[in-house]
Amino acid sequence: MFDLTGKVAIVTGGSRGIGRAASEALAAQGAHVIVNYVRGEAEARAVVDAITARGGKAEALGFDVADLPATEAAIAEAAKRLGRLDILVANAGIAIDGLLLRIKEEDLDRLFAVNVKGSIASARAATKVMMRARTGRIVFLSSVVAEMGNVGQAAYAATKAALLGVTKSLAREYAGRGITVNAVAPGFIDTDMTTTISAEMKEGLTKMVPLGRTGRAEEVAAAIAFLCSDEASYVTGETLRVNGGMYV
Ligand code: NAD
Repeated sequence: MFDLTGKVAIVTGGSRGIGRAASEALAAQGAHVIVNYVRGEAEARAVVDAITARGGKAEALGFDVADLPATEAAIAEAAKRLGRLDILVANAGIAIDGLLLRIKEEDLDRLFAVNVKGSIASARAATKVMMRARTGRIVFLSSVVAEMGNVGQAAYAATKAALLGVTKSLAREYAGRGITVNAVAPGFIDTDMTTTISAEMKEGLTKMVPLGRTGRAEEVAAAIAFLCSDEASYVTGETLRVNGGMYV
């Protein structure tokens, strides 16, 4: 599909779900993929093994994106060691749901620390390397709820909407350096993040999707791979919705 031979990519939270599918999609196009994990070292190694078994290049790298200095140091060190960094997929994210009256301050802090500050720190570290090369691709993982809202997700939606502001700002800030910055906004995708949803709620949500089903991580990964490709060279500041028509 797209040729990423010789490029280096880092996918935060790449050990499972959408991050895993993105790691595999980028590696399948020829990129050397750094699969970040925070607790799932065995899972990350399994992703690396799956990629290398197919003849691709990958390695696992542990750091917690909520630890900003550790994140920036790990990304800088990896880029230095591999001599370049072409692609960042800022995918690591958490969901903590709750109605407004029940949202705890510590949950708000944690959501913003991982989803917003972690993504910004990852982008800052990547941008420093990409600026010197005068080329790069950054993709943030937003969500359908950033644009349409959802009961019980005010805090999570706030973090995902924040990333749309970050995307548009950085797109303007780094266009002159050859770096494109875009967001992918998935709808309801079958991953560990959505397994806790009750069957009843899942049925209700699926009814809101014109395509009549939940999405697969690979379908989100395909959109990410496009935005990371040379073919997407004139796309920046965009949000690519992958939601089966749930919000258009
Ligand atoms: P997931 O829970 O399966 O994966 C999230 C990944 O992020 C995991 O690998 C996890 O270890 C990692 N992570 C969490 N905190 C981290 C930290 N502090 N440092 C490093 N890594 C960390 O969920 P997913 O569905 O694959 O979600 C991927 C992204 O897509 C998230 O940003 C999520 O908000 C977004 N998203 C998911 C859906 C969906 O329906 N599944 C919808 C919209 C947006």
